[in-house]
Amino acid sequence: MSALLSVEDLSYAYKHLPVLHRVTFQVRAGEIAVVLGPNGAGKSTLLKCVAYMLRPREGRVSVAGEDVRTWSARQRARVFAYVPQINTGNMLTVFDTVLLGRKPHMRWSPTGRDVRVVEELLELLGLDALALRPTNTLSGGELQKVVLARALAQEPRILLLDEFTNNLDIRNRIEAMQWVQHVVRARNIAAVVVTHEFNLALRYGDRYIVIDKGRVRAAGDRSVITPQLLEDVFGIRVRVEHISGHPLIVPLL
Ligand code: ADP
Ligand code: MG
Repeated sequence: MSALLSVEDLSYAYKHLPVLHRVTFQVRAGEIAVVLGPNGAGKSTLLKCVAYMLRPREGRVSVAGEDVRTWSARQRARVFAYVPQINTGNMLTVFDTVLLGRKPHMRWSPTGRDVRVVEELLELLGLDALALRPTNTLSGGELQKVVLARALAQEPRILLLDEFTNNLDIRNRIEAMQWVQHVVRARNIAAVVVTHEFNLALRYGDRYIVIDKGRVRAAGDRSVITPQLLEDVFGIRVRVEHISGHPLIVPLL
């Protein structure tokens, strides 16, 4: 497989607490990889290590065959856009917040192109009417869109989303995944998405990485997500049903 993102034998520890153990997976251009795993499994740590916000203790991350370790922070910021699990607003306007995403591409001040990129994203995500609002006056769903717009403004090759759909209502959740899918396909980039929503994951994922206690338990296409695996990793019994051709995971409690 010719991978855009390749993670090989990546290990990480916070001081003396080992959290990731020889994690290996690949993601191709145009694909959404979904990371599933229980709380505390190491999912957020994994995203931060992939973007080298945390320096892996061992192992290697490469993008299109280039070892990320050799890159400057600015180079990494042009390639990886990371959206953290928790986002809060501030006094900056929506427009300026999204424009900040352009920073890795700017020299001194924004160019016409930077402004155009921001305007196009605001339009794509239906945020134009909010452009001048400080982000601390937005609803949770609106703020998530702004954070996604800022990440896309970076024009990354790898988009890293940590529990991005939390706090979104059902419609916004589906729309958010549709935008991610649209952008990933249209720009031929890769996304690594952490989520706890199995059914959204099954619908929009192209490949899956299931981690438990810092180890990869399964990686591959949809067929790796079996009831037995979910029982082993999450400790719940489930059934997989199909409705209109879509697999649905139903917990049996
Ligand atoms: P997940 O995102 O899968 O819930 P995390 O990657 O946030 O898991 O955390 C994995 C483990 O690392 C947990 O045991 C957590 O307590 C620990 N951990 C996370 N961040 C830190 C930190 N900054 N310092 C020390 N331990 C941490
Ligand atoms: Mg997390």
